[in-house]
Amino acid sequence: MKLNQLTIKEANKKLAKGEITSVELTKACLRRIKEIDGKVKAMLTVCEEKALKQAEAADGRRKKGEKNELLGIPYIAKDNIMTKGVRTTAASRILDNYIAPYDATIIKKLKKAGAVLLGKANLDEFAHGASTENSAYGPSHNPWDLDRVPGGSSGGSAAAVVSDMCVFALGTDTGGSIRCPASFCGVVGLKPTYGRSSRFGLIAMTSSTDVPGPITKTVEDTAIVLKAIAGQDKNDTTTPLKTVPDYSADLKKALKGTKIGLPKEYLNKGTKENIKKIIKEAIKKYQELGAEIVDVSLPHTKYGVAVYYIITPSEISSNLARFDGIRYGHSAVNGKDLITAYKKTRGEGFGPEAKRRIMLGTYALSAGYFDAYYLQAQKVRTIIKEEMDAVLNKVDCLLTPTSPHIAFKIGEQVDDPLAMYLEDIFVTGASLAGLPAISIPAGFVDNMPVGLQLIGPRFGEQTIFNIANVYENATNWRANKPNLCK
Ligand code: GLN
Repeated sequence: MKLNQLTIKEANKKLAKGEITSVELTKACLRRIKEIDGKVKAMLTVCEEKALKQAEAADGRRKKGEKNELLGIPYIAKDNIMTKGVRTTAASRILDNYIAPYDATIIKKLKKAGAVLLGKANLDEFAHGASTENSAYGPSHNPWDLDRVPGGSSGGSAAAVVSDMCVFALGTDTGGSIRCPASFCGVVGLKPTYGRSSRFGLIAMTSSTDVPGPITKTVEDTAIVLKAIAGQDKNDTTTPLKTVPDYSADLKKALKGTKIGLPKEYLNKGTKENIKKIIKEAIKKYQELGAEIVDVSLPHTKYGVAVYYIITPSEISSNLARFDGIRYGHSAVNGKDLITAYKKTRGEGFGPEAKRRIMLGTYALSAGYFDAYYLQAQKVRTIIKEEMDAVLNKVDCLLTPTSPHIAFKIGEQVDDPLAMYLEDIFVTGASLAGLPAISIPAGFVDNMPVGLQLIGPRFGEQTIFNIANVYENATNWRANKPNLCK
């Protein structure tokens, strides 16, 4: 096995025993990026020199006897996460030349742990999208089939993980952006509980649902990364003072007594038959493994996408107002007055999807429409949240498909924003309710990976890790690799 193919757990073992060094591991990843990123286009920036320096420092710390599962482990961060001294574009022209002046809290924590930042991954501009096709730098490609999208918006991160350019990656999930690409690329992706990991230093999209999380090769690795990035942060008041468990140390191996809820609304006619088949097989597997499957109902789920696409553009219209060509990034010259300068900067700087969302959101928030759209959406959001919380009082987690189909072809639905929004049908519920949700590989359709989603109770990450881990160990879908990676 090549070094860059290792999981965190495996790499840490070898590093601890002195069988490999972080410099060797980092070089293997950098080589891999050079070898295939011309095809996958997962990366926007590679910081080779900085990475090697960090790897040397990590090796030094190991030599002095320091032990820590992430010490010397190379990773990639989605490019809407601020990284001090490293270009951070959010895949937008408006931030094309932006060098972040400070680290996001989660990056700071990983730095402290000694993880090695290899570079920054492609995404949909400002994380608006489900395919990475909205990136100002062009789409990333799915390593399983280069003609297909890797999912989005953390598509570069997921594509990099499955093609072994790194040991793990960071993404952000506002309405599925970690889970959708994890499902399309056949890796593990966790959207933590809202507030479990700090948003400080993320380029804000929808502040009321944004949350950063890991994309990894195994459930255990996700547990390791979450422990490192989670916790209270005084710079983000939505992070509560709540102990962070040692998730990976406590991973359970058995499912006896576990109740898994199956929301009937999630296996409706909008989901492709071949996906339903995979989910049914997973349910059977869970029963064999000793879990009890309970039918549940979430009748308001069907409003999730509609509510999400009112609330999200509303918050986006406000969050993107700061990009005016004066304080950050791209600035159009020759504006004869302030208004023309704003118009020019924002006209040139934002792509079509960001503009669409700014307009939709401004409309939904404007006097006369606020009550009918934004306020109404917030009320339905509360119902969705209460409904999900109530059901999760009766079962340990919910099981659903992550996506209604496999990764689609690049270009197939770029001209149909509504079809793109409907991609989020299974993922918006947990986002609106702020619940933790994980996507794990559950099989293949036409040689493309399919993910299943487990949604847990608030701060119940340990529960979904256990339930995901037992299934992963019993199935080992990870043994399959894209042809590109064999
Ligand atoms: N598909 C969702 C959207 O376009 C995903 C956003 C996200 O989670 N960043 O809004």
